[in-house]
Amino acid sequence: KMLQSKDSSEANFKIPNIKFTKLFINGEFVDSVSGNTFETIDPRNEEVIARIAEGNKYDVDLAVKAAREAFDNGPWPRLPPKERRRIMLKFAHLVLEHVEEIAALDAMDAGKLFSDVKTSEVPNVAEVLCYYAGAADKIHGTTLKMSSEIQGYTLLEPIGVVGHIIPWNFPSQVFAYKVAPALAAGCTMVVKPAEQTPLSALYYAYLAKQAGIPDGVINVVTGFGHTAGAALSSHMDVDKISFTGSTEVGRLIMQAAATSNLKPVSLELGGKSPFIVFDDVDVDQVAPLAFAGAIYNKGEVCVAGSRLFIQEGIYDKFVKKLEEIAKTWVVGDPFDPNTRHGPQVDKKQFARVLSYIEHGKREGATLLTGGNALDRKGYFIEPTIFINVTDDMKIAKEEIFGPVLSVMKFKTVEEVIKRANCTKYGLAAGVMTNNLNIANTVSRSIRAGVIWINCYFGLDPDCPFGGYKSSGFERDLGMEGLHKYLQVKSIATPIYNSPW
Ligand code: NAD
Repeated sequence: KMLQSKDSSEANFKIPNIKFTKLFINGEFVDSVSGNTFETIDPRNEEVIARIAEGNKYDVDLAVKAAREAFDNGPWPRLPPKERRRIMLKFAHLVLEHVEEIAALDAMDAGKLFSDVKTSEVPNVAEVLCYYAGAADKIHGTTLKMSSEIQGYTLLEPIGVVGHIIPWNFPSQVFAYKVAPALAAGCTMVVKPAEQTPLSALYYAYLAKQAGIPDGVINVVTGFGHTAGAALSSHMDVDKISFTGSTEVGRLIMQAAATSNLKPVSLELGGKSPFIVFDDVDVDQVAPLAFAGAIYNKGEVCVAGSRLFIQEGIYDKFVKKLEEIAKTWVVGDPFDPNTRHGPQVDKKQFARVLSYIEHGKREGATLLTGGNALDRKGYFIEPTIFINVTDDMKIAKEEIFGPVLSVMKFKTVEEVIKRANCTKYGLAAGVMTNNLNIANTVSRSIRAGVIWINCYFGLDPDCPFGGYKSSGFERDLGMEGLHKYLQVKSIATPIYNSPW
């Protein structure tokens, strides 16, 4: 039987008041044009946390207009880069001063572990802001000697007004991945947070203003995807869309871009990442990593290692260890320090994950542990492990985005490379072995944007992040994450009578 944690009343933490519930346009918190609001729900108890302004096409128009004006005539793109750096560093400091409060908002809104958001995700927002603040004055073009009569150079210019559409599973982190490099580049922007998790984005907008980011540079339109999100991606005056979310919606974003003003898009989409374990590893060390690789953040992680391939020599021992870990894994209130995972983000995801579990059973996989919702209010699901999974099963092919691990056995390096690649996705992969040659061979052979050798989830602001195949294109983070918000302009000029 899975362990359950205590309630948050016993976790000794004061839930903050919700300060910001309106749209943030041109530096002000405003009601939506329609006056409509929507509920954001606490997945721990299915209660309403707050009513949030529901933006639609008209609000997106106003936000884009503010961003356009800030780009075309405002100070931000024209500031000396070191000034942008100074203001972004101040923004980062303010984030660090409010870590607890922001972490509580994400924990309530998304059911994420409070301790995790507090010690990792929100401080990471500050890290990413600092990283790109440092990059703001290092945006360089090149000089080109085109011929003895022509001298050329390239200028890197901000791309303009950016639309950022972000998901609910890492509301803070993805906000920073999008907003920080666009700020450093000198862009202005409209952010559309996920409807499940609007609270922290509004808080960041408030802090940005306190830091001195001019009005109109960051606008936040809360609302739904098919209305506010669609209006942003099809807007004629938005110069770029940066999207993180599902592959399905990524396709709609590209269509909207193509049929409007042909704005470039970058897509960070879903995954079904393989976690590959070879016979030579220490089972006691690697099994907890494999388990967390799939179940961390209740499996609501785009890079979740949800297909676990174990080599036959250690298969039985490894599976036994996974079963032991599952028994000690505490599911419950995300504010309780003992909890290892909280509720799924909303009712829809909860139902979706349970339906995949039913599929797994029907398709003939063997349920090793879990498989049930907890018998309490809220969207809690036990960590669930299926063994005897085959590559053609739905649970091995589709992204479940819940605490469900599909375990498979393999014999050879060649076999596992082929099977790991037999998915439409290509976001991440884990390779666990002490054999350097195997590690290198597999890393080169897997078609995915991020490979972790003997670790998982290792990320850094300097490390580009994104997918191959249907997991998307272009990268967040690193210098690649900055360059997608820049245009290259080539400038040429003749030189007369040059002896060179
Ligand atoms: P989603 O695609 O449903 O929603 C993402 C965002 O898109 C939300 O803000 C939503 O409101 C908006 N949206 C929905 N329909 C839209 C439309 N027609 N036009 C414009 N915008 C629209 O995804 P989700 O359920 O919020 O997030 C889960 C998915 O995100 C998973 O597939 C996961 O793998 C992926 N994800 C990927 C990464 C990555 O970096 N690759 C990171 C986190 C999540």
